[in-house]
Amino acid sequence: MIALARKYRPKRFSDLIVQEHIGAALRGAVAAGRVAHGYLFAGPRGVGKTTAARILAMALNCERRASAAVAGEPCGACDSCTRIWTGAVNLDVVELDAASNRGVDDARDLRERAMYAASAEGRHKVYIVDEAHMLTREAWNALLKILEEPPSRVVFVFATTEPQKIAQSAAPILSRLQRFDFRRIGPHAIVDRLKQVLAAEGLSADDDALRLIARSADGGMRDGLSILDQVVSFGEGPVTAARVREVLGLISDDVYGEVLRLVAERDTKAVFPLVARLVDEGADLGEFVIGAGDVLRAVLLANLGGKAEGLTEAMAGLVERYCSLLPAPDVVRLLAVLTELEPQLRTSGNARLVVELLLLRWAMMSRTVELEEVLRALGKEPGKGEPPGKGSPAVLRDAVSPLPPSPAVPPAVSPPIPPERGALTVERLRGLWSRIVEDARAKSPMLGALLERAEVVSVDGIGVSIRPLDTNPVHAEGLERQREALALLVGRYVTEPVRIKLQGAGSGERSARPGRLTEEGARAERLKALRAKDPGLSAAVDALDLELLE
Ligand SMILES: [Zn+2]
Repeated sequence: MIALARKYRPKRFSDLIVQEHIGAALRGAVAAGRVAHGYLFAGPRGVGKTTAARILAMALNCERRASAAVAGEPCGACDSCTRIWTGAVNLDVVELDAASNRGVDDARDLRERAMYAASAEGRHKVYIVDEAHMLTREAWNALLKILEEPPSRVVFVFATTEPQKIAQSAAPILSRLQRFDFRRIGPHAIVDRLKQVLAAEGLSADDDALRLIARSADGGMRDGLSILDQVVSFGEGPVTAARVREVLGLISDDVYGEVLRLVAERDTKAVFPLVARLVDEGADLGEFVIGAGDVLRAVLLANLGGKAEGLTEAMAGLVERYCSLLPAPDVVRLLAVLTELEPQLRTSGNARLVVELLLLRWAMMSRTVELEEVLRALGKEPGKGEPPGKGSPAVLRDAVSPLPPSPAVPPAVSPPIPPERGALTVERLRGLWSRIVEDARAKSPMLGALLERAEVVSVDGIGVSIRPLDTNPVHAEGLERQREALALLVGRYVTEPVRIKLQGAGSGERSARPGRLTEEGARAERLKALRAKDPGLSAAVDALDLELLE
């Protein structure tokens, strides 16, 4: 059996799926006799760039082009068309792979060969250069000379997946080329084409099987057909999703179902058994993480009113089930953690541990619930008096969460930007306090914890007075011991050296002067006020073990 990818490779411009715009333009150019001397075909792999170049060569050299049913289309059947299509030895069509022929010698050779006209009257010489971004600067310079004074009836087609590299190394040549951008082929288009091929071959397949193939083909029709080929030759009877998974080593949908469940239910205990199962089954953990990202993306899309393409029926059901349990802000944060850990997955020698950490962080991650929703769920409207936040809806978050209070925003873990130094004022210091706490935590979690429960009271010259927020004497002692360290931390943000003074806890007029409250204190106050006003909320906070955040 001829490989399906080869057997069903398009023979006419009108066969090019998804790239109809390019097919029509090229067909029109051939029909009008206005074919350019140089083309750049840019786009992802497997979307038909080389195929389109061959069809162009066929159309230019077709023996029956004068009597073509559609002007500009090759017949696909004459001797010339057949030879070009099958890649048989052909004087007029030269295919080069720049990945292997990239030296200046080849370029010179190309130049010399280009000087020879096509083999016969009325024929065109077509050079198809694949992976053109691999050509050297010298090769491009030689080609530029040809294209500045192109011999008649010579056409160059440069195909590339990375046009930006050509722009970098050979910008002048781009102005000599007519550029076509090939589109990625979506899963629907791939499934449709696979169905046509199956019908033509008298074969059948489950829709889910085709969706899985389309997903693995990742936008490439050639890959889609090659995978279908493998799956068809692997077994008997109709192609099933199970067979596709087996051939491609894909991770089954129920694994992703388990991921969604353990994240939604915060079932941290289920993390290690799940990863153990993947490892035992010999699953590719990188593939698993990509798949998990795809599933979360589908949940996010569903939450935002969209629909992910190419999901199997089982997967679509899972997405529907979990999209209300995992609201969009949560999914965004889950995906942010994924993006953060992904590089480690590639570089770490211990992919298993990275995957375990990823799932644990997902399962432990705090969730955002808008206060209004909680109140509505309790049959209450939000209080009309004091608004819970400054313009933004108040957010409830688990008190057990280990994360800093930044709802709907992924936790910042990247190293801090070098601090900008400025004047030492009490306002500035208070504004910077959360960053100073972060800096402290990076140095010592203990110091971070101490500073988090301390506030800036006043600034006097180079003296900064701080005060612990609780009356525990251990806290004050800890701060006392860390005065030098704190002076250094604060010193990073100001232009002059700083001396830290400590005030007694609870001293002064904390409750009388709310302006001096820390954010945490203010939140506690606000929550207290809200709870006093609304017994429903109070019950919810108690029942759900929540704390109020900005
Ligand atoms: Zn022909």
